[in-house]
Amino acid sequence: MKRRNFIKFVGTCCCSALLYSCSTVPITERRQLSIIPESVLNRQAAAAYEKIRNKSKLSDDKKTLNKIKTIGKKIEEAVNQYFIKNNLDNPTSSFDWDYILIDNDKIKNAWCMPGGKIAVYSGLLPITKNDDGLAAVMGHEVAHAVAKHSIERASRGVLVNIGTAAVDIASGGALSRTSRATGVNVSGMLRKFGIDNPFNRKQESEADYLGLIFSSLSGFEIRETILIWERMQKAQKGKNIPEWMSTHPSTKKRISSLNKWIPEIMLKYPPIKNI
Ligand SMILES: [Zn+2]
Repeated sequence: MKRRNFIKFVGTCCCSALLYSCSTVPITERRQLSIIPESVLNRQAAAAYEKIRNKSKLSDDKKTLNKIKTIGKKIEEAVNQYFIKNNLDNPTSSFDWDYILIDNDKIKNAWCMPGGKIAVYSGLLPITKNDDGLAAVMGHEVAHAVAKHSIERASRGVLVNIGTAAVDIASGGALSRTSRATGVNVSGMLRKFGIDNPFNRKQESEADYLGLIFSSLSGFEIRETILIWERMQKAQKGKNIPEWMSTHPSTKKRISSLNKWIPEIMLKYPPIKNI
């Protein structure tokens, strides 16, 4: 591949050169890079999730965990039914959903790994405050998984690794000797799933948009989304920013996009009955 074409490919995911390695995000129809098979990433995610489940202090607040599961099940069902009713491939057909509540009041975060493994941290609960707020953050995280953002990120990583391999060969294998000595890179793995590092700007906007749609289809009041952003801004005061509130796009731009999308989504994606 000529260098110019390669840059075009990496930079914009223009798929003309490698059509087979791209897919389309449901609903937004954005073309995305997709080299890594979903089954591979889901398997890795399930293993990482088990590790986190075993090492974390899980909350014994059964009432809240049940609430998280109830909201999650509604979102699962709404996503399912939406794609079935519209005669579209269901992007969650291979998901094996699971939910944990981690007892850590300092972390105001939640995430959904590829394949539907979801964690909520107890520190998020005063921010989300009610079911609509919790559904807003969970909807956003589920949207990252539905839109296969981790596959896209890992696929870009493969392209970066092709470059790294070339450097490795040139340096006589110094890089691979280092990674063998240090073993598995756990933080790299978590980064791959978007847990300790936010997704890119386009993916964040897309997760905001799709998250509103999934919460609305599930019967939640999506206008609450704006209020949790305001509560979060007050609570954070410049401290660590959790994934769902990543700094890109900027908070101001994000709230204005959400405000623009909400009325349209409430009309276009009303609650699915009997969920
Ligand atoms: Zn996000």
